[in-house]
Amino acid sequence: MPELPEVETIAENLRQSALTGIVIEDLVIYWTKSIAHFSVEEYRRKIMGQMITHISRRGKNLILALSNDLFIIIHLRMSGRLILCEDWNPIRKHEHIILKMRNGKELRFHDTRKFGRWYLTDNLNLFFKNLGFEPLNDTFTLDAFTKELKKRSRALKPLLLDQSFIAGLGNIYVDEALWEAKVHPKTLSNQLSKGQIKKLFQSIINVLKKGIINRGTSLGSGKPNFYGLMGVQGSNQEGLNVFRLTGKPCPRCGNIIEKIIVAQRSTHFCPHCQNLG
Ligand SMILES: [Zn+2]
Repeated sequence: MPELPEVETIAENLRQSALTGIVIEDLVIYWTKSIAHFSVEEYRRKIMGQMITHISRRGKNLILALSNDLFIIIHLRMSGRLILCEDWNPIRKHEHIILKMRNGKELRFHDTRKFGRWYLTDNLNLFFKNLGFEPLNDTFTLDAFTKELKKRSRALKPLLLDQSFIAGLGNIYVDEALWEAKVHPKTLSNQLSKGQIKKLFQSIINVLKKGIINRGTSLGSGKPNFYGLMGVQGSNQEGLNVFRLTGKPCPRCGNIIEKIIVAQRSTHFCPHCQNLG
């Protein structure tokens, strides 16, 4: 599933593709369930003729601001992809939504597993009211993070995956951040030392920034799970330290990386560096 760095990569690709300032000519939907809360006709009526004014992101959600003060929110979920192409390109299998732009370009939503959703809202605060910290934002501070960790007594792995606690992290970046901070995934949030909290805070920011610089993590051979807007793969998979590296030596201490299940999620860690104590 695309996480914060992958969604940010797509947002950045969209900003660079000069999609802002272009008017939406039409919307064609081949799989109606990809649209949430609205009928296809209603959704289409609300966005047609509107200009895309700004492209941003919150957690794993992509946000297209429109000239009528509505926002298209796209959540890619498991397998959603966005493709920007010319309108003469034949429609391919799994392309469920086609946003036709006035300049002859099309933004297409490709989703093999069909869990991805397009929403529409006029109120971002209300729409995202259940999301927690935005980790690359100024509001994510060491003080605030410390306070929220102390309030809870939950294992770090599920807590950091919980979007209502911190938004944008998924399995890859949680495992990488915990490894970098040398913290065991089962450590309870209120049992971290001051030093561990400081390291974890910085590690979360570091792994996300590295993921963005590397334009996302494209895992899997043959058909990787992530592509940018123009079908380009990211390179962050080459710089991972623990995620899906079970049986390989830890890059820091040489001990063997293990895989365990924590809160039903596969979790990769170094039992030597990340000692439960
Ligand atoms: Zn190690």
